[in-house]
Amino acid sequence: MSKTVDIDWSNLGFSYIKTDLRYVSIWKDGKWDDGKLTEDNRLYISEASTAIHYGQQCFEGLKAYRAKNGDIQLFRPDENAKRMNSSADRILMPEVPVEKFIDACMQVVKANEHFVPPYGSGASLYLRPFLIGVGDNLGVKTAPEFLFSVFCVPVGPYFKGGMTPVNFVVTDFDRAAPSGTGSAKVGGNYAASLLANKLAKKEGFADCIYLDPETHTKIEEVGAANFFGITHDDVFITPTSDSILPSITKYSLLYVAKEYLGLKVEERDVLVDNLSEFKEAGACGTAAVITPIGAIQYKDNLHVFHSETEVAPITKKLYDTLVGIQLGEVEAPKGWIYKVK
Ligand SMILES: *Cc1c(COP(=O)(O)O)cnc(C)c1O
Repeated sequence: MSKTVDIDWSNLGFSYIKTDLRYVSIWKDGKWDDGKLTEDNRLYISEASTAIHYGQQCFEGLKAYRAKNGDIQLFRPDENAKRMNSSADRILMPEVPVEKFIDACMQVVKANEHFVPPYGSGASLYLRPFLIGVGDNLGVKTAPEFLFSVFCVPVGPYFKGGMTPVNFVVTDFDRAAPSGTGSAKVGGNYAASLLANKLAKKEGFADCIYLDPETHTKIEEVGAANFFGITHDDVFITPTSDSILPSITKYSLLYVAKEYLGLKVEERDVLVDNLSEFKEAGACGTAAVITPIGAIQYKDNLHVFHSETEVAPITKKLYDTLVGIQLGEVEAPKGWIYKVK
C-alpha cells in the first residue's frame, strides 16, 4: 500500500488516534448483517440502548505486529473471538461467529495498513473489538439489536526506554463478585475498578491488586492484568478462580514457560500472606505482555521480590520469548500467528 501517515512511531503512547476505517456490523431479527468498513468514528444509537443503561456490553483487545520479514500478523485472534463469545453468553448477547470476528480484524488491519508501526519500533497496532446492546428498550432485559465493531489505534511500547519493575498495592475493593462477571470482559468490571486504581496511583503505586472477593486471602488480578509468580524452585505459578479474567497472554506464558523454557507450571491459589514463596512475580496482558512486579504493599508490609529496579531473569526470558514469537523472531506454536494478507 502506498498511503503513509505522519506519525513519530518512537513517541507513541496509549491514546486514541482516529485511524481511517473501522468495521461495523448489526444484529437484528436474529441474525448478523455482512458488516462494512466506515470512515465515521461516531456511533448513532438509541438513547435507550441497554449498553448505556444496564452495562450490556463487552470488549476485547489484541494487537497486530509488523514482523521481522515485513509481514503483518495477529496474535491468537481466535482466542479473543472465543473469549468475547463467552463474555457475550454471560450477559445474554448473541455470539459473533469466530470467522466473522477474525475477518473483521483482518479487514480493519488491512484498511489501516499504513498505521501499523514498523518492525523494531516496539510499537504495534492495537485492535479494540466490542459488542454492545442497542435499539429502543426501557425495561431490564436483553437488547432488541446489537452492534459489533472493531477499530484500531497505533500504540507505543508499554515501557519506553526498556522494561522496569513497578510496585502494586493490595486494595480492599473488589472488581467483581463471587459468581459475578469477573471472568467476562465487560465494562462494568472496569467501572468498578476506576476508584481503586485512582487511590493506588495517589499512593504512588502503578495500580492495585485485587484479592478473591469471597475470602480476601488470595491474589486474583493485578489491575487489568493476570498475576504470575516464579517459586524458588523455578515453578511458574498462576492463580485460578472463577472471577479472574482468563488472559490470553497468561495462557500463552504458561505454554512458553513449559514448552520453551522447560519450567514446571501450576495453576493454583496464591495466598497474599505467602508471597515469600516467590522469587519473581509479574503481571501479564496484551498491553505490556509482562509488567515485572518489583514489590507488593499489603497492609503495613512492602514485600520486595527480585528487585525494585532490575528485571528478574526468568521474567525477562519469558518476555523475550513471547515477544519474539509475536514479532516472528522465534518460531511460534502452531496456530498462534495469523498473517494479514
Ligand atoms: C483483558 C484483561 C486481562 C488480560 O488479558 P489478555 O488477553 O492477556 O490481554 C487481564 N485481566 C483483565 C481484568 C482484563 O480485562
